[in-house]
Amino acid sequence: MAKSITVHFLGAAGTVTGSKFLIEALGKQIMVDCGLFQGLKELRLLNWEYPPIEPANIDAVILTHAHLDHCGYLPKLVKAGFRGRIHGTLPTLEVAEIILRDSARIHEEDAERANRRGYTKHSPAKPLYDEKDVEQTLPHFKAEPLDTWLTIDENIRFRYRYNGHIIGATFVELEIGGKRLVFSGDIGRTHDLLMRAPSKPDEADIVFIESTYGNREHPADHTKQELAEVINRTIARAGTVIIPSFAVERTQSLMYLLWQLSEEGKIPNVPVYMDSPMGKNVLDVFIKYPEWHKLKPDLCEAVCARIHRVKTVQETKAIVEDYHPKIVIAGSGMATGGRVLAYLEKHLEDELSTVLMVGFQAAGTRGRSLVEGEKQIKLHGKLLNVKAEIANIQSMSGHADSKELLDWLGALKRKPEKVYIIHGEPDAAAQFKTKLKDELHLDGYIPRLFEIVEIPL
Ligand SMILES: [Zn+2]
Repeated sequence: MAKSITVHFLGAAGTVTGSKFLIEALGKQIMVDCGLFQGLKELRLLNWEYPPIEPANIDAVILTHAHLDHCGYLPKLVKAGFRGRIHGTLPTLEVAEIILRDSARIHEEDAERANRRGYTKHSPAKPLYDEKDVEQTLPHFKAEPLDTWLTIDENIRFRYRYNGHIIGATFVELEIGGKRLVFSGDIGRTHDLLMRAPSKPDEADIVFIESTYGNREHPADHTKQELAEVINRTIARAGTVIIPSFAVERTQSLMYLLWQLSEEGKIPNVPVYMDSPMGKNVLDVFIKYPEWHKLKPDLCEAVCARIHRVKTVQETKAIVEDYHPKIVIAGSGMATGGRVLAYLEKHLEDELSTVLMVGFQAAGTRGRSLVEGEKQIKLHGKLLNVKAEIANIQSMSGHADSKELLDWLGALKRKPEKVYIIHGEPDAAAQFKTKLKDELHLDGYIPRLFEIVEIPL
């Protein structure tokens, strides 16, 4: 039999979430990323199915970074029989632990609430996985350095490279029998508030490139000014600003900007709450790994001092009921779960308040519905009329835009054999394919979800 590499596109193909790529070659099976599907119901239901591969046969998982849509399926994989190692950089593994524990808690709370309020079709509703499953997953973690070739066996090795998307985030160079596969992971911005500019690959035979914003160029960065305007007009009418935010990086960027605006006297002195059990822990990872970002340790502390961190559910309840103007940052970033729902339940129907969206909103999420101007939103089994102002600051994205993606690929010294366009909604991926042809004269290929391709070795 001729030697070849088989690639299974098990997620983030034709969609943004659920990143999972299984690579079979030379008697080994390696999975790059192991994320949860989020957003559209038909995608989320896939999280519940038995994986379309045999987890016990997978030798290793290589994580690019710790966002839920890249690592959130790990406890399920372990539960289904995976026994190998889960590789990641130190910050990635520390953040992944925080994210997975939180994800388990959200799944448990959702199941518990559904059972209590009786709006489940399954009785009793069960969580996708629980904290015990996360405990079983952590011993598989293996921390790896940047820029160092790591051996899986004599013909397979990989290397992590900094890509500036979130703390710990990387792209991965995977060499199999001398052929180099490059997985972009999620690529960060060239000029980010917190992260350094991404490194770029100089060589690749096969590229798997994300295309989240493959159809868009981010507007010039007026984030700070836009943020000040939204806050000032909301506080002026005695409303509350609710900011659904990913616990990793967007929350820290927001905290930093809010601190700057406060210091400069550009926003009024109202309480700022961070209501995310994860936010504080992720901040600790920031403080622990200063070499991974641009924020100096003393600045980290000053920023933290300006923000009130909410610790208990009782405190959340008290803040939700408090009518004074304030700013609340709470997870999850796409308003699919987490503490932010309690605030939305209270404030979505309040015309004085503002819901400010700052990150990518996947199709099928409440965040996306709000950004698209939906007038009614379903939450905890109730239909709410959206009366609050909905604001959206796009330039806060942690993802490279189409131009930055092309710059990144343009660093390759020779043409790759194949470029797979992944991690994008259909329109973004299709438009990126056209740009790739026009600007770099490369033929991109957009794989379908669950497609299996053979690459000759
Ligand atoms: Zn990400």
